[in-house]
Amino acid sequence: MDEIFRRFIEKTKVRRAALVASLGGQCVMCGAVEKLDIHHLGVRLWKAAELARWQRVRWYEQEARDGEVVLLCRPCHIDVGRGVLRVEERIEVRV
Ligand SMILES: [Zn+2]
Repeated sequence: MDEIFRRFIEKTKVRRAALVASLGGQCVMCGAVEKLDIHHLGVRLWKAAELARWQRVRWYEQEARDGEVVLLCRPCHIDVGRGVLRVEERIEVRV
């Protein structure tokens, strides 16, 4: 792989890890620290599938500053997506 591209990917990973740490480093529902996803609380203004990973990290960094995203582990994220779990009951929702 191209060296510049490889370093770019590495930087994106580092930025995402820093973002995860700044969000508390664990699932807000169960406290898991592995396989964490970034979950959007409100209406997302962009489509994840249309953006590259590094572009998504930039959006998430901004949204983390605005308190619009939380961490969920993969299983909790699936349950939240299904409506089985409600994040809003676990966190202090800032209005
Ligand atoms: Zn969880």
